[in-house]
Amino acid sequence: MNLKQNDKVYKIFMETRKIPCPFCCGKSKFPIKGANGENKEVNCPKCQGTGTKAAYNSVFKIIEGFVAGVECGNGSSVVLHHITFPENRQHIYIEIKDDYKQYIFITKEETQKELDRLKQEQRQQTIELIEELKRDIEEQAHVD
Ligand SMILES: [Zn+2]
Repeated sequence: MNLKQNDKVYKIFMETRKIPCPFCCGKSKFPIKGANGENKEVNCPKCQGTGTKAAYNSVFKIIEGFVAGVECGNGSSVVLHHITFPENRQHIYIEIKDDYKQYIFITKEETQKELDRLKQEQRQQTIELIEELKRDIEEQAHVD
C-alpha cells in the first residue's frame, strides 16, 4: 500500500488533562464515621489525596494530516512517507507496513472505529476504577 503526496491521513491524538478525581470530585478527602460513630476524614485512596484523576485523564481526538513527501530509499524497496500533522506540528517518517495503524490511519472510517474502541475501553476502565474505589472506601471505613 502506498500513499501519494497530499493524501490525507489521520491520527488519534491523546490529550492529557488534569481532571478532578471522579470519586472524591477533586475534594481529595472523604468524611466517614469511625467505629465509635465519630466523624473522621480519610484521604481518597486512589488519588492519594491529590484530588486529581491520575490514571484516566486522557481525552482522545482525531487530527488530520497529509503526506508532505514520499521518498524512495537508494536501491532499496523502502518507501518512506513524510507525514505532517499541522494541528499539533508533528512530523513523522514512516514506511507503510502492516503495522501502520499504530501510527496513522488512512480512512476516516477506520479512525472513527478505533476512536470508538478507545472510548469504550476507557469507559470500561472508569467503571472498574469506580467499583475498586467503592471497595477501598468500604474497607478503609471498617479498618479505622
Ligand atoms: Zn480522589
